[in-house]
This record gives sequence, C-alpha cells and structure tokens, in this order.
Amino acid sequence: MEYGLYIHLPYCRSICPYCDFVKAPLHRAEPARLLAALERERTLVVAAEGAGTGSVWSRPRTIYVGGGTPTALDAGSLRRFLDWIRSGWDRSRVREFTVEANPEGLSDEKLEILREAGVDRLSLGVQSLEPAVLRFLGRIHTAEGALSALDRARRTGFRTISADLMYGVPGETPEGFWVALQRLVALGVPHLSAYPLQIEEGTPLHAKVRRGELRPEDEDAVAERYGDLVEILSRAGYRHYEVSNFALPGSESRHNEGYWLRRPYLGLGPGAHSFDGSARWRNEESIARYFERVESGALPREERIALTDRESAEERVFLALRRSRGLRVGSHLKAFRPTDVASWRRWALAGGAVAESRAGRVRPTDRGLLLAHDLAAELFARADTGPMRGADAG
Ligand code: SF4
Repeated sequence: MEYGLYIHLPYCRSICPYCDFVKAPLHRAEPARLLAALERERTLVVAAEGAGTGSVWSRPRTIYVGGGTPTALDAGSLRRFLDWIRSGWDRSRVREFTVEANPEGLSDEKLEILREAGVDRLSLGVQSLEPAVLRFLGRIHTAEGALSALDRARRTGFRTISADLMYGVPGETPEGFWVALQRLVALGVPHLSAYPLQIEEGTPLHAKVRRGELRPEDEDAVAERYGDLVEILSRAGYRHYEVSNFALPGSESRHNEGYWLRRPYLGLGPGAHSFDGSARWRNEESIARYFERVESGALPREERIALTDRESAEERVFLALRRSRGLRVGSHLKAFRPTDVASWRRWALAGGAVAESRAGRVRPTDRGLLLAHDLAAELFARADTGPMRGADAG
C-alpha cells in the first residue's frame, strides 16, 4: 500500500518563542541515542505490524524528515541518519524524499550529504526577509543568509526547493512582504508554503499575549497579506493548490498531498503522528519518555483514535476543501443527506466561496480556501440536524 514515511529529528540551534513542535536545543542533542531509538522503533513496528508485501508499511512512496531542524545536526550525524534511512527502508518506490532545513548552519557540505543520500526536495525555513520580523520570531538567520541558502541549494541540484514563509507577524510591513515574495519569485523558488502566525498555548509568545505585552496582528491585516500572497504568486504562474501551499507546475509536495488525500503515513521519532487508513495516533511527545519507552522495548504510541464512519467522512470533506481541486460531489459528499448537500452548495456558491465544475466537483475559490474550516463546519452543522447516511465516502 502507498504510504508516506515521516521521521522526526527534534533538535534546533535555538528555540523560537512561537514554536509548539516537539524540539530541544542542540546542546541537549543525543544524536547517537536518537538513531538507536529510531532503529529500535522501526524494528518494533515491523515486529508488530510487518513491513513486507501486504503490510500497510511495505514500501514508502514518500519520505519526509522533519523537526526540529534536521540539518542542525553536525555533518557526521546527519550522514549517519540518512545512511540509516537508506539501509533500513525499501526505497524502490520512493517518488519524493524531503528534508527540512533552516538557513543557519546549512553548509555546502551538508547540502552535498543530502543530495548524495537521494534527498530530492529541500524545505527551507525562510519565514521572512524582514529583519524586524525575523527578530520577532526569534530566528537566528538573516535575509541574506536565507537567500544564499536557497541559491546554494539550487546549485546543489535538488529537484524541488520549498521556502516556508510566515505572515501576520508583528513588525511586518506590506511592502516588506511584497518585496520578499518578489525576490523569491525572481530566484525561481518552485514551491512556497505560507502560514499566518498562530499564537499557540504553552509558548512564550502566548504568555506575552496573556500578560498583555503583545497584541496579535489585526485579522484584516492578516487577510490582506493572504490576498497579496495569492495575487503575486498567481500572477507569477504558481498554482495555489492548498490553503497554504503554492507551486510551479510539477513542484507540488507529494508527501503532503498524501496527508490531504488521507493516505496512510507512518511517523517515527518523538511526537510523530501516524495514520493507517482507519486510526490515528501520535508518539510520546516528551523526548526523555520517548527514549525510555523505546529502549524498554515498547512502541512509544499514545492516543490511538479509531475513526468512526462519520469522522472519516468529515475528514475527507474538510481536507478536500483545503485543496483547490476541491471535492467530488458523488463521492466526498455521499455520506451526507442530499437535501443538506444541495442547500450547502447553494449557500457556498452564493457567498462566492466555491465554484462548480461540470465534472461534478465543488472547488473552493481563493476566498473559499481561506474559509475552508468554516465551509466544512457549515456542512457538518446542517448534517447535525438529522442523521447522516453512514456510508463511507470512499
Ligand atoms: S527552528 Fe523550527 S522547530 Fe526549531 S524551534 Fe524554531 S520553529 Fe521550532
């Protein structure tokens, strides 16, 4: 079965105040211990669920190494992790191999190590090219450092390079955001992911907001940045293929597409998430406890949730509405009562949130993509007023 393999390397050179990922500062890194734990976890998964033909986890179609900052590791450790992936997994069907990186410390040597290991897609945390924004976000690279990393990565020969951007950040200016987009377009960066700053509970930024020391950006300003993003990138030939993702033709992320299409994925490492087609779970988020569990011979899994038919049907709709391809009325919506679907379609069309195609698809407009959550919620609210059909949308 087609699945995506995700491996979490949680170490970062410095910790950003908005980050709620599973991570630890580099000075606390134990790369050899993590590598041994990942191998142990792989063995435990294979023993419990198999990895040969017929198993969900037979041969991955995509591999994604995220974090943390995988490239924060020293060159020798990075090479050892990639060698382990090369030897531990059947890569004969892999169509995309991505590694996340940050500009700081991304030496030419590390770029070469990634290419030699078969990595063909690099996802670089640029975030902004405005010094005030980078400072606010606690990022330790400069705009020049990010542009140089993009340029050096391009020359190293990755098939695709993606730049991560953030907007809605205190200190950003419309001009600065516009110029950053133009510079990335001019560099020919084939893929961009752009996310509004989220103030997540438990982060230092959240504490500042609670103490009244920081006011999140105004919603209208954030929506305006989103409008700029869509306009500039569409004009430059990028396809807005998912709420937060833009690609030149052929540069879409196959791994992330797997998440949106609800294909199975296996996550290894602290805090990694998995989905086998019917249930979701995540690994232990505490790095120390992840080590303890795996080293004692136990799978480090938490919170396994078997999805009901209704939850699966809602997930399909929710994820489809985040993609510009939208959903197929005949399959995605077949679990919902036709009267609810019809009234929801009329409502969404009248609001300009979706367009309909002759092929029986409902496609969110750019405005609709921004409202994907509300669009889905409106359909579910209508379905809540009566029983759903209970069928799987397939
Ligand atoms: S570099 Fe990324 S993973 Fe690391 S702390 Fe910053 S946002 Fe989090």
